[in-house]
Amino acid sequence: METDLMALTVLKPPGELGSDIVVGSAQGFGVPMGYGGPHAAFLATSQGYKRLMPGRIIGVSVDSTGKTTLHMAMQTREQHIRRDKATSNICTAQALLANMAAMYAVYHGPEGLKAIAQSVHGLAGAFALGLKKLGTVEVQGLPFFDTVKVNCADAHSIADAASKKEMNLRVVDKKTVSNSCIPFMKQHHRSARTYMCFVDRYHTEHELLRYIHLLQSKDLPLCHSMIPLGSCTIKLNATTKMMPVTWPGFANIRPFAPADQARGYQEMFNNLGELLCTITSFDSFSLQPNAGAAGEYAGLMVIRAYHLARGDHHRNVCIIPVSAHGTNPANAAMCGMKIVAVGTDAKGNINIPELRKATEAHKDNLSALMVTYPSTHRVYEEGMNEICKIIHDNGGQVYMDGTNMNAQVGLTSPGFIRADVCHLNLHKIFCIPHGGGCLGMGPIRVKKHLAPFLPSHPVVATGGIPVPEKAQLLGTISAAPWGSALMLPISYTYIAMMGSKGLTEASKIAILNANYMAKRLEEHFPILFQGVNGTVAHEFVVDLREFKVGCVYRILPESSPKMLPSV
Ligand SMILES: *Cc1c(COP(=O)(O)O)cnc(C)c1O
Repeated sequence: METDLMALTVLKPPGELGSDIVVGSAQGFGVPMGYGGPHAAFLATSQGYKRLMPGRIIGVSVDSTGKTTLHMAMQTREQHIRRDKATSNICTAQALLANMAAMYAVYHGPEGLKAIAQSVHGLAGAFALGLKKLGTVEVQGLPFFDTVKVNCADAHSIADAASKKEMNLRVVDKKTVSNSCIPFMKQHHRSARTYMCFVDRYHTEHELLRYIHLLQSKDLPLCHSMIPLGSCTIKLNATTKMMPVTWPGFANIRPFAPADQARGYQEMFNNLGELLCTITSFDSFSLQPNAGAAGEYAGLMVIRAYHLARGDHHRNVCIIPVSAHGTNPANAAMCGMKIVAVGTDAKGNINIPELRKATEAHKDNLSALMVTYPSTHRVYEEGMNEICKIIHDNGGQVYMDGTNMNAQVGLTSPGFIRADVCHLNLHKIFCIPHGGGCLGMGPIRVKKHLAPFLPSHPVVATGGIPVPEKAQLLGTISAAPWGSALMLPISYTYIAMMGSKGLTEASKIAILNANYMAKRLEEHFPILFQGVNGTVAHEFVVDLREFKVGCVYRILPESSPKMLPSV
């Protein structure tokens, strides 16, 4: 069952109606519109399906003091453990947004939320009643919650007239407009505060602020320490980059606001898209995917659409090296592809003779290769040109997982390496804060021949070359035309302020720092995987297996946060 959280505060819950699985968006819970996102979705199930859900705790372990511990939550690692059998393809959970929605609920409390829901419904009711009294149009009767449909002679002329009075109505079809009512935040904060603050301590702004601050102080943030967080190496969330996110011109635009009311956004999309194309040496882009994993899905679907348009319906084999990030096989499986794994050689690089054999064996049905550069072993593999050539010679397309772009920006590029499509995890590469599991953006870039197949949108024309009949092949991959648009000012500001020289310098310094650290540490710890010159890319892997103490994680008796497992 698909539902709306705010409406559920006053309706009978789906569980009581006999629903097994319920999904929806948490945006109505205090999260700004942001021209479509970011916002958290939710999925809940009845008891019977609990163990099949992504993100569940999978095991119990014992720490070095003999205490029982839960050893892993699957959410972030499911793709790695189950690969093509994973039930979630995304490591970028919208944790920060989920926290926002949760705090909105904590602040207002059950009664406050009900009051907001009732006032939303009351506004919609007053709107319907007012129109009914006028008697010139046909108004939808109950039941409705926050959205009222109105039948009229000419929907477009009514919407135009309303727009001149600074009101946006949705044109549903030629003879129908609709209007939805949202809570008027400020007033509700105030009313909720006056009658709730005596009941529960978190219903005043100060108490809530202290509570949130207490919770965040239990984490290990960048202001206290370096965060050894996988690919997310550039994490300067400077104030200048974060501030535009709070500006009403960005934060309060509705996802389907008319384009002429969002010219600033549109200009930024184009500028940012072009900058990202320059950085990657690609021709066209889509800002729709909300995370790297969603970018992989979109990119593979673009490749699929390309093959289908050429009549190659049978091309469905996706070659993926075993060293790949777990989202690669998980997404290929979601796209209905058959996955062929290719091993690595003694040095951890892709085994090229094995790749050649696998490619030739599947020559007739080859769809794509998914490859990461520098590899997930953090090495600039020497064989990239040869690898891409083998795939192209056999009719396949090369999908480059662009996560490690931090080690390429200004120095080389996926386009130069001859990939056909790649995603960029803007939250890993271009400064969007990680938020304990993110708000993400994973836009994709493609070479010219793939541009017509980029994601489209039924309501708004999005990126790529508009060739409607071909665009139909892929359709839409996110509800919002430009994904989590509100996050884009962060990356745009970063790229614009750094400039091409600054970005290149940042790549060089990241690589230099990683190599300096690797050299200093290699006397004491084994460094796994190095390139031909004994160098690494912007990161490196230290082998700590011999320090393991008979349990999954070594947890010190004093439970120092620095020893907690990193993602
Ligand atoms: C993080 C990561 C992904 C997935 O990206 P998300 O934005 O977390 O969905 C894919 N590939 C690699 C190599 C990664 O590190």
